[in-house]
Amino acid sequence: MTVNTPLFSSSTTNTDGFPKINAKFADILTRALEEREINEDEAVLLFSAEGPELRSLIQVADELRRRAVGQIITYVSVRNINFTNVCYTGCRFCAFARRLDDPEAQWLSLSEVANRAVEAWEAGATEVCMQGGLHPHMPPNHYHDLIVAVKEAVPEMHVHAFSPFEIWYGSKLTNMTYVDFLTSLKDAGLGSLPGTAAEILDTNVRQQLTKNKLSSEEWVEIITTAHKLGIRTTSTIMYGHVDGPHHWAKHIKLIRDIQRDTDGFTEFVPLGFVHHNAPIYLDGDARPGPTIEENLRMHAVARIMLHGYIPNIQVSWVKLGPDVSQKCLMAGANDFGGTLIDETISRSAGAPHGQHMHPKEFQRLIKEIGRVPAQRNTLYDLLDVQDY
Ligand code: SF4
Repeated sequence: MTVNTPLFSSSTTNTDGFPKINAKFADILTRALEEREINEDEAVLLFSAEGPELRSLIQVADELRRRAVGQIITYVSVRNINFTNVCYTGCRFCAFARRLDDPEAQWLSLSEVANRAVEAWEAGATEVCMQGGLHPHMPPNHYHDLIVAVKEAVPEMHVHAFSPFEIWYGSKLTNMTYVDFLTSLKDAGLGSLPGTAAEILDTNVRQQLTKNKLSSEEWVEIITTAHKLGIRTTSTIMYGHVDGPHHWAKHIKLIRDIQRDTDGFTEFVPLGFVHHNAPIYLDGDARPGPTIEENLRMHAVARIMLHGYIPNIQVSWVKLGPDVSQKCLMAGANDFGGTLIDETISRSAGAPHGQHMHPKEFQRLIKEIGRVPAQRNTLYDLLDVQDY
């Protein structure tokens, strides 16, 4: 496919096997293939793609994926350590959190966390991902001590830990600025931050999901502070609840603007809302997560909007399942995420797709769609590219 060929036509079937599509879509997708930026309004239109427009959107996203990262699909061997599910916050989409007196309330001691890290290392994991609830009795130095516990047990382990909400909480508990708190975690061995708790970076949506307890502005401040300190982060969106295409376009544009300034994001991870046990859904105030077409559009539009800025678009196989994950990997995504031993957050919300995927299963699913599997580390260095 060459950039300057007119690929789309609104009046005839075009020459490159692309279907006849609406003129506005044709114009936007042609410019995307010319590697020019797509603005927010154009992204909103792309999010409405159906039929031939959707097929063309997917083809263009897949082509940009090929140009950005080639045929390799990566995955990372990681153990999740959800060190507590006790949380006072009450986010209305969350089915993971428990109150202090709940019989299912959990708190892992530092030695249990260290033991899990050792087990993970012995099983081949290169990363532990630690996230938990905002426990009302959290010792002020606990975030720091969790990192020390892992690094003392397994110095080589990459510690990917603490959402911006947890950084906000830890800073409050310790009375430290974000700069000082993040610096102390980095000095203790923090490798990178998950860019979770982003949900939708829009005040009105956040008001409905979390009573805006962590505002968009605070999320952005924490993430950009981390980037400026040399701590890389992921970026995420959680979609399919009370939100819509204009929120998605605005959110992805904001992520792109941050990346332009800091270059600190390793990847973008669309996280479809898992509704089954979520309070906001059970109260009748949210829809039951994204449709398959919305999942495809999200991965494809993200690839197109973020082209030239963030090379890696990750599928969340726990939420999508293997079949839809494969479809999204043919619609602009290039990373399968983690093996995720002990994933409990999506499982609590009712996601039916298990909590562990063996590397051999990743490899099989990747080869099945004609691509090349490769194990990576957290920061996307390739560790083992499979022969194909
Ligand atoms: S999403 Fe996080 S902060 Fe919100 S209630 Fe659940 S555990 Fe607590």
